[in-house]
Amino acid sequence: MALYADLHRHLGGSVVPRILWRYFQRHDEQLAQRFPDYYKFEEFYTRERSSLDEYLELHTLVESVQTVKTLPYFIYRLIRGAYIFENLAYLELRYTPYYRTAHDLSQHERIEQMGTIVEIVGKASQVKEYPMITSQILCMHTRLPYEVNKAIVDLAASRRDYVCAVDIAGGDSHVRERLDEFIRLYQYARSLGIKTTGHLFETVNGCYPELLPYLMRIGHGIQIPLKYPELLKEVAQLNQCLEICPTTYLKTGTLEDLSELKIVFERCFEAGVDIAICTDNAGLHNVRLPFEYENLLTQNIIDFAQLEACQDAAFRHAFAWPYQQRPASLLTGLLQETYLDDHSSKPLLTL
Ligand SMILES: [Zn+2]
Repeated sequence: MALYADLHRHLGGSVVPRILWRYFQRHDEQLAQRFPDYYKFEEFYTRERSSLDEYLELHTLVESVQTVKTLPYFIYRLIRGAYIFENLAYLELRYTPYYRTAHDLSQHERIEQMGTIVEIVGKASQVKEYPMITSQILCMHTRLPYEVNKAIVDLAASRRDYVCAVDIAGGDSHVRERLDEFIRLYQYARSLGIKTTGHLFETVNGCYPELLPYLMRIGHGIQIPLKYPELLKEVAQLNQCLEICPTTYLKTGTLEDLSELKIVFERCFEAGVDIAICTDNAGLHNVRLPFEYENLLTQNIIDFAQLEACQDAAFRHAFAWPYQQRPASLLTGLLQETYLDDHSSKPLLTL
């Protein structure tokens, strides 16, 4: 039995359309009136966008309803779905805590409230009936000032019980104007011993080799094998894993067709660069992790052996997975033993 790890999933984009729409109907009159019909809402919510920036605007719709009060509601349903439908044993959930704080507070008060948000998310992610290992990645954001982003790094350092790493989100093209600042923030995170990933090399406008030395994993990174294959050697040497989220590139208009990923996988395998296949925004896309796997197989982008290599890599590069092996190898032994015991004890089967 295979159990999976998802290393790249946004809290905002993880709410499936049905859950979000039902939440509007039950709790938000204004949004319920804006979207009276479920299927029209689903169409609006999951349709392809023309750019990464336009796509990211959708996050603000979900962020506006994910508050101190409602986060447990959404996270419970997220964990339940991930356990029941996706066979996840491990999940790293990422978000910008500042955007879950109350908008009417001052910047200072909102920074203070971020700690409460981390705690709420951490507690809500531990659901007794759906056990899996979860951890949080806190995203700095290209729209936030330096003080807030630095406070996000400090929060990651002070809540290692819930937080495993930091990231930069908000569209990779916007990193350019403050590149030095983000390099400093990543240097600071590494100096505190915090693990790092970053949304980079996702689009052609978001490629910053200067930031690469500070990252332990790369959020997306598909433009490295596509446009800068000469960097792959360094990526392999630094043992950086690419977090590839196939459906995203279609929804953001970054790729026209999934087949364009074939060369991404080929070049990475050839260079010895690990890839973890991830969902990014499983709810927003309405595509769960096993379907990401299946799509790549049926479209002949990777084969089964390569898929398994990526699934192994996900556990190897997971920031908070506490074991040496992935769970499949532990379970396989258990299931085979039970099978043999069972069958050797039944005379009928020995005929
Ligand atoms: Zn992402």
